[in-house]
Amino acid sequence: MARVYGAIEGGGTKFVCAVATGPHDILARIRLDTRTPDVTIPDAIGFIREASRGHNLVAIGVACFGPIELDQAAPDYGSVTTTVKRGWAHTPVVGPLREAFGVPVGFDTDVNGAALGEVRWGAAYGCDPAVYVTVGTGIGGGVIVNGAPLHGLMHPEIGHLPIPRIAWPDGRMDDYAGACSYHGGGCFEGLASGPAVGARAGRPAEEIPDDDLIWELEAGYLAVGLASIVLALSPRRIVVGGGVLHRGNVLNRTRERLRDVLAGYVGRPEVTLPNDAYVVAPRFGQDAGLVGAIALAEAAVGSGR
Ligand code: ZN
Repeated sequence: MARVYGAIEGGGTKFVCAVATGPHDILARIRLDTRTPDVTIPDAIGFIREASRGHNLVAIGVACFGPIELDQAAPDYGSVTTTVKRGWAHTPVVGPLREAFGVPVGFDTDVNGAALGEVRWGAAYGCDPAVYVTVGTGIGGGVIVNGAPLHGLMHPEIGHLPIPRIAWPDGRMDDYAGACSYHGGGCFEGLASGPAVGARAGRPAEEIPDDDLIWELEAGYLAVGLASIVLALSPRRIVVGGGVLHRGNVLNRTRERLRDVLAGYVGRPEVTLPNDAYVVAPRFGQDAGLVGAIALAEAAVGSGR
């Protein structure tokens, strides 16, 4: 019997589940709409049970939307905690999986999982520390240090880093009110997420032409956010995912403006010279979260978790 992993990318709108032997050998996968936990979690369990039949299921990995409890000494370890997602606040996720399968369950944020997958097999292979940032309807970030996702008080919340406002290319200060329900325009997500881009333009970000000046403003904000990450965590590589990066010249301009923001202070060629190998796109693209769940499963084998 082949050793297989169960993998769950648990998102606020979809749960992608798979059974795989590794990132390049996904035996079966399914996309479930995220409904209430009493529906979605049993559906995920049922899929993994069916798809792993005839194989040796050795561990499960869950890369989950948050916030989540990662302190294994906490009574609610393995739960989604204070989310605004209806029905999901204080929902155990690890418990039901352990009960159903009796195998170790690796559990982390979706972005910590994606970061681990990109370090293990992808665009940040061999880089440590490494950071994964995704820019979409929100901004999230995962951090790998010493080969494992960074945990502390809770987990990194890179999307809510306070960052300063910047000016449009014509010198006018950006006065957008901000898209974060906690911090308004006072944080990275509030100023640079997809909805923040769309709100300034008065139409969804996907409908804004590539030559619109908003993309230059966006690259400026991404550079400010990434500069904070470089200064605080000293990553050897930053993987940036999400549709925004592929618009216009955003990725290249972000790299250039990151050099400007750091202003030579970090005296390393990765950030002082033109470099397209320091801030990079994810290898696994849309599958970064699912591959992250596979990586979390792999890391959980033999952990006793
Ligand atoms: Zn915020």
